Amino acid sequence: MKGKLLVIGFGPGSFEHITKRAQEAIEESDCVIGYKTYVELIQDLLKNQEIISTGMSEEVSRAQAAVQLAEEGKKVAVISSGDAGVYGMAGLIYEVLVEKGWTEETGVGVEVIPGISAINSCASLLGAPVMHDACSISLSDHLTPWELIERRIDAAAQADFVIALYNPKSGRRTRQIAEAQRIIIQYRSPETPVGLVKSAYRDRQHIVITNVRDMLDYDIGMLTTVIIGNSSTFLYDNKLITPRGYQRKYTLNTAEQRLKPHERLRHENEPWAIHQGKTETIQKEKEMDSHQDKGVQTRKEQESPVDLAMEALQRVDAQKGIETDYKTVAPVNNPVESIFELAVSPGVANKKFTPKQMMVLAEVVGEKGTMEYTTDHYIYLQVPTTKPDEITEKLAEVGFMLSPVGDVFKLKACDFCDGEKKDSIPHAEEIQRKLGGMELPKELNLGFNGCGMACFGAVNEDIGIVFRKGKFDLFLGAKTVGRTAHPGQPVAEGIEPDKIVGIVEDIINEYKDKGHPNERFYKFFKRVQEIQGFRYRDVVPKIEVEPAPCGD
Ligand code: SAH
Repeated sequence: MKGKLLVIGFGPGSFEHITKRAQEAIEESDCVIGYKTYVELIQDLLKNQEIISTGMSEEVSRAQAAVQLAEEGKKVAVISSGDAGVYGMAGLIYEVLVEKGWTEETGVGVEVIPGISAINSCASLLGAPVMHDACSISLSDHLTPWELIERRIDAAAQADFVIALYNPKSGRRTRQIAEAQRIIIQYRSPETPVGLVKSAYRDRQHIVITNVRDMLDYDIGMLTTVIIGNSSTFLYDNKLITPRGYQRKYTLNTAEQRLKPHERLRHENEPWAIHQGKTETIQKEKEMDSHQDKGVQTRKEQESPVDLAMEALQRVDAQKGIETDYKTVAPVNNPVESIFELAVSPGVANKKFTPKQMMVLAEVVGEKGTMEYTTDHYIYLQVPTTKPDEITEKLAEVGFMLSPVGDVFKLKACDFCDGEKKDSIPHAEEIQRKLGGMELPKELNLGFNGCGMACFGAVNEDIGIVFRKGKFDLFLGAKTVGRTAHPGQPVAEGIEPDKIVGIVEDIINEYKDKGHPNERFYKFFKRVQEIQGFRYRDVVPKIEVEPAPCGD
């Protein structure tokens, strides 16, 4: 009778995390081979099996013994913690078998039973650090040259992998983890979150949340796994969270991902993808171009300016007889570009752009960005960048008013006849100062017009304010788009100037607090029936608005 090798990963160490098949395999085995501590961890599963655990520190001889016992016809359980195929016994067993000319058909049976590896069990205790491309690196240089380990750490750090360091430190190996930190910090911010998990799901479980800079200040040992976040991993309530994708957008006041589900896979929202954010036709044209003009184009496409600069430096050095590999010298700290979106306008009342402003717009948008004129008198910018602050600085310097985009408060004022009807401008500016850019359940435009002509259509905005005869008329709940679009309901006339800003603030705050996510203001008004004492009316009575040939 042929024996069988059951190569078992029993997971982190708690009974609940051993798979059903691993439990069965242990139960059906004739003998169990493994570290003493591991055998102790699974002793509740053992019946009368022969246990080969003590005096077996040498893994190779343990694998040889296992193969021999199987060849004698036994069912041999070889146990590893975590997964047997991750720095476990599975590889060694196969190596011994290969040496003996084993084949599946002629040799003993082999079943490798998967288990939960430390990268998974430790990640689960830390939050969700391994959501994106990750790698595991063992810092043990007993069987692997340190130079190779160093190269792998370097490559992983450079390529922005989440890194799980196994075997980070032992009684004798203490320098490796410090070296690893030194390499990683060349590419990652010192603030990058790091989790240290010791004895996951065992009695002495201990978790530390720290960062790349401070990680060596804590106890790291044989039973610790060190998980290092990538450039977008963040800490929230003591949990390490790596976003599922890279942040796609930031706007002025928020760094959160603003894409709606249907927008997510659009090419223009993925400037980093292989299509470089271009639509398919443009992409095709580009490919054809590059076929026609191969020499130059392909080179441009493949190499970044940094690569070219380094190559140039190398050539200059070579002429002088110096040899430097700049790629390994210079840390390539290459943060991923996100699309920065914001809206700009010359001012609350001012609608005129200066040539200087137009030039700065062209400069910040550059070749890769876009600018679009919107229906609410803003220019909407989308610029792939890693430095949004530089963009806002340049725009603010030439006097632009900057607004975030998305579900925020926007003021859409008229031009006050180029300042002739200026009395109400300070009120509009105060509203902009207090509420501009505020996040709301849904985007909201407040139309503000300086006279009774309301020629900028204030009454057709979510909230409308019309200045007339030194006082304000208020309109609420226009439906701004669609075939059933309608103006707002006139809810108050003749509001005193010193009251208007406070009233608007109260209305907006009530909507912010009580509006459902995505609920437009007009729907909210209809649902709650009353906002700050202003009642919703199903049938709007015809109001007598005095004729106003031009304003006043
Ligand atoms: N086969 C195992 C790894 C064995 S190498 C697996 O797949 O998990 C030993 C290393 O694994 C330890 O140095 C430690 O880094 C990690 N490790 C194993 N079990 C662990 C546990 N319960 N908690 C934290 N780290 C663990």
